[in-house]
Amino acid sequence: MHPMLTRAPAKVRTRTIPFARPLIGEAERQAVEEVLKGATLVHGPQVEAFEAEFAAFTGAPHAVAVANCTAAMHMSYLALGLRRGDEVIVPAQTHVATAHAVVAAGGVPVFVDAEPRTGNLDVDQVAAAITARTAGVAVVHFLGIPADMARLQSLAREHHLFVVEDCALALGARLGATHVGLGGDVGCFSFYPVKHITTLEGGMVITRRADVAERVRALRSLGVDRSPRERATPGVYDVPAFGFNYRMNEVQAAIGRAQLKRLPGWLKHRRCLWALWREHLAGQAEVELLGATVDAAGAAAYCAQVLLNGAERPARDRVVMQVAARGIGTSVYYPQPVPAMTYYRREGARGSYVVAQSISDRAIAFPVGPHVEADGVATMANVLLAATVYARSPA
Ligand SMILES: *Cc1c(COP(=O)(O)O)cnc(C)c1O
Repeated sequence: MHPMLTRAPAKVRTRTIPFARPLIGEAERQAVEEVLKGATLVHGPQVEAFEAEFAAFTGAPHAVAVANCTAAMHMSYLALGLRRGDEVIVPAQTHVATAHAVVAAGGVPVFVDAEPRTGNLDVDQVAAAITARTAGVAVVHFLGIPADMARLQSLAREHHLFVVEDCALALGARLGATHVGLGGDVGCFSFYPVKHITTLEGGMVITRRADVAERVRALRSLGVDRSPRERATPGVYDVPAFGFNYRMNEVQAAIGRAQLKRLPGWLKHRRCLWALWREHLAGQAEVELLGATVDAAGAAAYCAQVLLNGAERPARDRVVMQVAARGIGTSVYYPQPVPAMTYYRREGARGSYVVAQSISDRAIAFPVGPHVEADGVATMANVLLAATVYARSPA
């Protein structure tokens, strides 16, 4: 095609850019078709292959595919021996699933605030929150930026705590050569549609601990001791343990395998677009890009999390609406600190989480995913900067 023809005329350049768009291609469609042609829909080779390939990608000794990340975390706590009433330190600035998984396992989430440069949990506050009842820490690699695992690991060793890493937004993130999820006891991933790769719904547990992997395998499948393929006498098995039905099925795993092959290219794209966001917003007094002041080389670039300087929630909401009117999809990570959500307030969550609250009030997340073209960043950044000026004037 002639280069002139690849450029749309100026008028139609206000195209819509959704916050996320799952990219299901021919490879995924064919993989699904293959599974549906066969007779094995659950307990089959696709899940095993997906686990092996995910383990190879992350460098994990063990990988267990599960129904979703919430289930992954729920089972991780049980596998790590969490007892009813045990406290688990949880960042206030996270997805509610991080806290709900603790509650599901019988634990009590104890919230700590975020540190302002990355939104990751504040390790000084983790240290201050440890009591005789603390059993573990939930670490969230917020928006793909790895948390300070070295300090958390030494705290955990000193106080005999387990560490569960919520890596739902951090697939591909590494600290040095180590993939996130391998610095603690367990790493949990999500394949929900807006994440780095999708299996529609889905999750993965990775761990260096064979004992934990074995317990999670039992827990995901009702505590049954033998899968159908392992039964000497068809239909005969025993149930030595409690468990759930938290399995991933063969169709999901087949999609996941196709997505995983595309992940390295997508990660490159995400990091490249995130760097463009950093360039476009550098020196702009109205906004700050979360993570822009730290070394982001190993980050998984989930999104460009823009914070409006000096703004309050109503001004942020006006900017969101302005930007939406120009066809640009955004999100808010996250709309409230978890302890400020109604359920946790009713359950007695107290304390002030100043940094987490400030992020909730001022954040607008913009896309960097493979559905966005590189020149989309300039378009979005210009729309954003124009909208911040407009939002300053009272509605
Ligand atoms: C999406 C997400 C989850 C939940 O994942 P599911 O697979 O939907 O259960 C948990 N934690 C974080 C940080 C997330 O972003």
